[in-house]
Amino acid sequence: MKAKAAVFLGANKPFDVREFEVTGTPKGYGRSELIASGICGTDIHIFKGKLDMPFPSIIGHEFVGRLVDCDPEEAAKNGLAIGDNVIADIAVPCGKCLLCRTGDDANCVNMQVTNGESIEKPPYLYGGYAEVNYTPLSNLIKIPEGVNPRAAAIFGCPGPTVIHSARLAGRAGFEIGKDTVAVVQGLGPVGCFAVAYLKALGVKKLFAIGARENPARAKLLKKLGADEVLSIEKDGEENITAKLLKENGGLGVDLCLEASGAPSAITLGMNVLRNRGVYLIPGQYSNSGSISIPPEIITFKALRFIGSSQYSIIDVRDYLEFMRTRKDLEETILSLGTFYTVSDVNKAFSDAMAGKNVKTLLVK
Ligand SMILES: [Zn+2]
Ligand SMILES: [Zn+2]
Repeated sequence: MKAKAAVFLGANKPFDVREFEVTGTPKGYGRSELIASGICGTDIHIFKGKLDMPFPSIIGHEFVGRLVDCDPEEAAKNGLAIGDNVIADIAVPCGKCLLCRTGDDANCVNMQVTNGESIEKPPYLYGGYAEVNYTPLSNLIKIPEGVNPRAAAIFGCPGPTVIHSARLAGRAGFEIGKDTVAVVQGLGPVGCFAVAYLKALGVKKLFAIGARENPARAKLLKKLGADEVLSIEKDGEENITAKLLKENGGLGVDLCLEASGAPSAITLGMNVLRNRGVYLIPGQYSNSGSISIPPEIITFKALRFIGSSQYSIIDVRDYLEFMRTRKDLEETILSLGTFYTVSDVNKAFSDAMAGKNVKTLLVK
């Protein structure tokens, strides 16, 4: 048996679609067959050379598949059985460093990943962009019965990313709930999930802001829970700022979540937050240049900035619980995906980079 995989050959080079022999499953690992594997913004940064990655390699960290081969006893210890639909979480925190010991394993300083093994070494297929994937059983999370695994793949990484940043707000003493007026900046996958999630947390009012006017996306965001969708292009930054500063009796909004990746978004967020407002920033995932900010706003408004870059396995579980309990959103979420075969990876990447899709995924 053979399986296709998209091999990364370095920045800005087309992926090479190669066939690999499907070998035996190493002890402690599960072999899964591809259901859908998302192309993340991070992968686009890697492709553009903004994030370093050794090559040749199989990148991709959003693999969703069906578990087909493993030691059943080992699987049971991890709450799994052959035939389960699973999400592969690539993060392997060390468990020993200061961050791991203090409940912050998402930011382990010795973080290892399950998809970084060499493609020369059997069983070769550790990365996400492949028809078959090998991941340690301890890094596979069962997708609950009744949840469409393709739908679960749409926000497989953006979902836990948002949930983790919201968790950090909670740890900083900020409760997101019925008294919260929230703003989501950026209407990509992280922004879309943030809208759905914040709405589910019961926020009082929810604004979503995109750079460009996009009526189709605005309609989707309203379905996911946005009360109002604004665009910098049509509404203008000044008007948006004035509008949002009217919230809370003229104080501004309680919470901003930055998911656009545009450095300039930060100034807008700072300006519209109320005194002691919370700024969650999971979206600035590569060096997109610098901006000058007026730091006295941070002091005078006593703002709380919370960065968030990775997530923990518990966030993946919470994401899947969200998908299980919000079946009403499943069809809308599924409609956000555009699917390409692994062989079509280069078309998938060029469409993703051209912004043609909300979420681009590879399937068999
Ligand atoms: Zn990702
Ligand atoms: Zn650690």
